[in-house]
Amino acid sequence: MESVRELRSAVLAAVGDELLSGVRREGNCAALAWRLHDAGWRVERIEVVPDDSESIVGLLRHWVGRTDLLVLSGGLGPTHDDRTREALSAYLDSPLRREEALYDRIVGRYDGERRAALEYVRSSQSLVPASAQGLYNPEGSALGIAFERRGTRVLSLPGVPSEFAAMVRQELPELFVPSHRWTSVVLAGVSELCAVERVPEVIADPALHVSVLPSFASVELVVRGEPGRVRDAEGLIRDRFPDDALPAGCAALQEAVLHEARSRGMTLSCAESCTGGLVQGALTSVPGSSDAFLGGVVAYSDEAKRKVLGVDPEVLTRHGAVSGECARAMAEGVLRLYGASLAVSVTGIAGPGGGSEEKPTGTVWFAVASMEEGGVRSSAFLRNLRGDRDGVRERAVACALSALWRAAKDTKPGGR
Ligand code: ATP
Ligand code: MG
Repeated sequence: MESVRELRSAVLAAVGDELLSGVRREGNCAALAWRLHDAGWRVERIEVVPDDSESIVGLLRHWVGRTDLLVLSGGLGPTHDDRTREALSAYLDSPLRREEALYDRIVGRYDGERRAALEYVRSSQSLVPASAQGLYNPEGSALGIAFERRGTRVLSLPGVPSEFAAMVRQELPELFVPSHRWTSVVLAGVSELCAVERVPEVIADPALHVSVLPSFASVELVVRGEPGRVRDAEGLIRDRFPDDALPAGCAALQEAVLHEARSRGMTLSCAESCTGGLVQGALTSVPGSSDAFLGGVVAYSDEAKRKVLGVDPEVLTRHGAVSGECARAMAEGVLRLYGASLAVSVTGIAGPGGGSEEKPTGTVWFAVASMEEGGVRSSAFLRNLRGDRDGVRERAVACALSALWRAAKDTKPGGR
């Protein structure tokens, strides 16, 4: 096992009043921390500091000499609230000078109005402390700034997320070499506790660091450590959860659904009521989903269920739209409409209104229909889902995808 002391250490700091007030959610340091961890670094601290010179200087005074790498994000723009450049100059006790050649390279990428705007702010935007190095920005106009002091490499990068990411890639290319120092296994329909209890030796292994990340209807185990140990741990987790572990490389249910469908030559469709298209949104968020997902229907009103999906009016009057009968009719209807091999449907009460004693908010029916040799087959199931409107809808999406995944998985390859 690698001892903690051997790991290189990093401190990350995001500069921005908007991050402290919650107007924006910090993302740059979080993303970089993941990369650093993956590459075997130890991230000691992530700090969020306001756009003021004193705080930034204080941060530098504290961490320089105490960590191998200090990365600052933000505060390099041309507006009044961008103070990082001045703070670095004050900390280094080094006046600002113009990096004309580097700035020319950036300005040279643009023309017209954009170029004129960059020339307009040249006197401030081309400045870096005399004793520091300016860094080319391949994505935007703000120069980065780098220097080394007392064993600490300091990188100050622009805060715009796409620029920050591009400059991390440029300045720290070693973080982008696959390390195999971590793996992630998503377990569908497994609780946090059950996940942990079934793989005690992985959890207790002092050479591994395991994060248990529950979400709607699934839990993700992220295992970090030495590559060989990580591979063994993943194998063990998969052995203990043969029916619930999503295939390797699938981080979400929708990816697993499409993976299974593709590998079996199946096509998919979907009929949604209370989720209003969210299931189809999730499926189509996966690149290349069109090779398995044919399309679907959002049938919100009873009329749409009748007219578009051919749900029998009798089903609606006798059982209501939120019923197993209706869910089955919806799944069968959309299966036929699209000529798909497998379809899922969702119909329920997301709330806050519309519930009754018999069918309270959170009552959601699902059905899966498949094209079999003898004709269409379908089955329905009921879930009582927790949460407010958003919560019920998100859980319903997870349930629908999970049902679709299991149905696809249980179909024999080549079969329909
Ligand atoms: P630059 O150094 O390029 O000027 P900046 O932080 O000074 O960056 P801002 O105008 O403050 O520029 O931020 C640009 C955009 O990037 C804003 O929408 C801001 O909220 C966002 N942003 C800045 N820092 C972060 C961060 N750490 N995480 C996520 N978004 C961020
Ligand atoms: Mg900022």
